[in-house]
Amino acid sequence: MSEIVVTLPDGSELSVAEGSTVEDVAFEIGPGLGRDTVAGVVDGDLVDKATPLSDGADLVIVTEDSDEYLRVLRHSAAHVFAQALQRLYPDAKLAIGPPTDDGFYYDVTNVDLDSEDLAAIEAEAEEIIAEDLDIEREERPREEVVAGYADNPYKRDILETEAAGEDPVTIYRQGEFEDLCQGPHVESTGEIGAFKLLNISSAYWRGDEDNDTLTRVYGTAFESEEEMEAYLERRREAQERDHRKLGQELDLFSIDDTTGPGLPLYHPNGKRVLDELSAFAREMNLDAGYDPVETPHLFRTELWKKSGHYENYVDDMFLLDVNDEEYGLKPMNCPGHATIFEQNSWSYRDLPVRYFEDGKVYRKEQRGELSGLSRVWAFTIDDGHVFVRPDQIEDEVNLVMDNIFRVFETFGLDAEVALATRPEKSVGSDEIWERAESQLRDVLDSQDIAYDVEAGDGAFYGPKIDFAFEDALGRKWDGPTVQLDFNMPDRFDLTYTGEDNEDHRPVMLHRALYGSYERFLMVLIEHFDGKFPLWLAPEQVRILPVSDDNLGYAHRLKNELDDFRVEIEDRSWTVGRKIQQAHSDRVPYMLIVGDDEEASGAVSVRDRKERERKDVDREAFAAHLRAERDEKRIEPDFLD
Ligand SMILES: [Zn+2]
Ligand SMILES: [Zn+2]
Repeated sequence: MSEIVVTLPDGSELSVAEGSTVEDVAFEIGPGLGRDTVAGVVDGDLVDKATPLSDGADLVIVTEDSDEYLRVLRHSAAHVFAQALQRLYPDAKLAIGPPTDDGFYYDVTNVDLDSEDLAAIEAEAEEIIAEDLDIEREERPREEVVAGYADNPYKRDILETEAAGEDPVTIYRQGEFEDLCQGPHVESTGEIGAFKLLNISSAYWRGDEDNDTLTRVYGTAFESEEEMEAYLERRREAQERDHRKLGQELDLFSIDDTTGPGLPLYHPNGKRVLDELSAFAREMNLDAGYDPVETPHLFRTELWKKSGHYENYVDDMFLLDVNDEEYGLKPMNCPGHATIFEQNSWSYRDLPVRYFEDGKVYRKEQRGELSGLSRVWAFTIDDGHVFVRPDQIEDEVNLVMDNIFRVFETFGLDAEVALATRPEKSVGSDEIWERAESQLRDVLDSQDIAYDVEAGDGAFYGPKIDFAFEDALGRKWDGPTVQLDFNMPDRFDLTYTGEDNEDHRPVMLHRALYGSYERFLMVLIEHFDGKFPLWLAPEQVRILPVSDDNLGYAHRLKNELDDFRVEIEDRSWTVGRKIQQAHSDRVPYMLIVGDDEEASGAVSVRDRKERERKDVDREAFAAHLRAERDEKRIEPDFLD
């Protein structure tokens, strides 16, 4: 009998009989491990322990102690949900039900469900868990399985795609329930320690809006009730801070069906925040020697053909026919900026040439993928492009990085940094790639920044440094980038005259300090729980007159603070109710003015943390406010 060799996580190699499964190898290593084996990770894929191995495979054995175990458990929980659903709704048809990062979902159809129905399904699922049914893997002739799914187009689609050419086909069975599935699964339904259904939404089959709409039920599972409780607590907190909820409560923005999906409308409050962000970026850009430019929302598609975006982006572009000519809303700003550079002749002494623009772009994402400000059709990038000589890359990237870190620091956000290097398919010479990558590395090393190297993850046109934001709840979001580009200067035939009087190709640098304003605003809303730092707050001070008699004094105070965004609460409410409203509107400072304050010419101050001080001198308060705003303080002391 011939042998095959598998590699274990510690790098050691093991010779086993041909046809050995994951479980066989585990038993080979030790009987204890064999008994504990739940599944395997083979060449990076999570597979059933009954999977036979091929020669040269990298193998990780998955036991209850492995990180992957939770994923296996949750996949089994998805089956338990489907079984419970079919017990209660025998006509329900199953489409697909995978595990996700924090639970599972199952897409179903032919059943009318709303969130009130979840409790009964959950109770049935608890029943199935208590029954402790064995979960068994079976191989069946393909023909038989195809025939069994005669009235289920989704399972047949899976048979033709994921399970194409497989014969026999694997089925997992528990009690009376079975499902077409690759696994892996836990041994029995009783292993699921905690099970919960979370919510219902709808989804298109395969995420494609031309396909059927299905009902998607989300749930999660853990090994223990304690872990479930901790998860639900984090989830509640995240929901409280959800930017879609706060966006409405704080009157920041809306997305309206009549005006179109994925097209945010910024209300005055939201626009005030955006304007402050834009002014901060503008100040950093001007200091760094950038020149503002402006380009329209629409270009002839000739431009996108020239830049190469048309080939790759046409499905995501909004196209228009104007006088029999094709135009497109811009999916990116770079070709416009490259065209501006192209209009002049440049000497090596002129470089770097730096342009910036708050550029609105349009990308047609699947409607089902749109969500609040995180996935939209129209968004604005704080975009900048720099045209540099190859020897200037390092200094220029340093300059960008300084400002990106200033952003992270200013907002109290933690950064994750990754260097993405040359992919297999790329343009540009070895020499220029090596030089560019080593310059990016030098920048990161010289600034003493911890970063991951994502080998082969660069764009085909150049390496890049990606930044991700980690918010107050530990969630990660794509943030700004610095990308080098050797391709677009070629496509636009951009040149500068060198010291040698010859034409040379500049390198183009794409960069943003925030990324998109939409994404960044979303991160800020959730990170600060809507309590923006004073300089960003749409309303910075609210004056609360105790009675209408104090309105005159309130207006005098407002005039004295005319360099701030100040409102007077003049509804005939009690002071208590006015305070409550200002807190729920997240206003940083309240000035409470009654007869005593008016008589002494002072103010009573209350902040968002419910700290209060009476008899505060008006000028001292204004000075404190100015310092807090101008220094962009995040966690101010109270009237220090
Ligand atoms: Zn499955
Ligand atoms: Zn660009």
